[in-house]
Amino acid sequence: MKIGDKLIRAMDDHGLVRALVVISTDVVEEARRCHDCYPVAAAALGRTLSAALLLGATLKESERLTLRIVGDGPLGSITVDTDGKGNVRGYVRNPHIELLCKNGKLDVGGAVGVGFLHLTREIGLKEPYTGTAPLISGEIAEDITNYLFASEQVPSTCALGVLINPDYSVQAAGGFLVQALPGATDETLERLETNLLAMPPISTLIHAGKTVDDILALLFNGMPWHVLAEEGVLFNCGCSRQRFADAFICLGKQELQEMQAEGQAEARCHFCNKTYYFTKDDLQELIKQI
Ligand code: ZN
Repeated sequence: MKIGDKLIRAMDDHGLVRALVVISTDVVEEARRCHDCYPVAAAALGRTLSAALLLGATLKESERLTLRIVGDGPLGSITVDTDGKGNVRGYVRNPHIELLCKNGKLDVGGAVGVGFLHLTREIGLKEPYTGTAPLISGEIAEDITNYLFASEQVPSTCALGVLINPDYSVQAAGGFLVQALPGATDETLERLETNLLAMPPISTLIHAGKTVDDILALLFNGMPWHVLAEEGVLFNCGCSRQRFADAFICLGKQELQEMQAEGQAEARCHFCNKTYYFTKDDLQELIKQI
């Protein structure tokens, strides 16, 4: 049964706990396919894509959030961005890393390495704001939890998971983010902690066919709660031939004439790996526009 990717925001009825859940199996599979990611790269990129969707859940239209995981491990950096409409895109510097395993699991932390997490929010007319925190484990979820506490003073728990099939396709992916709001009572925090400890891994739940509502019911067990908003999510780059043509025009006439002399030019989008080709004639058209 295909459930479809979804992001949901909910709150307990007393307004003390906020939770976000995303099922992103199709998003991560599309990213894996675009970039031909091997398993550990698919897991790391998939966790980062899911995290960005959770962190960007309250963005308004025209706002953006960029999440960068910059470690010294074999994967290189991971860059993901999302808008306020449920679109997310991203890439990992080295998608063809051979399997790194630790205790029978994909070793995402080892593949990411030691480094920093950078989160940039472009909100409204204000200057973009970037916050930075050191990576705790490179496993992404712990790094997000640490970032939110260290940089934004929000106590949170983040869980992220990606399961990969033997043929390298994505079996299940998703995550959640739970935040205790100011005024949360000890009783509420204890109940939340008990619920979190009892939760099976998020990827196991999604693989078992649990919906976002089922997962919220586990997180809010014993607390009355309600849904605030729900939206579909998509791996969608939004790049276009025109955007690259505009970038070529910015290079100037001389540069374009040199490219033309070498034959056709090509431009590859980092975010979705799509390549746009410009023939000699195409380049001539661009030169005319300068
Ligand atoms: Zn693209």
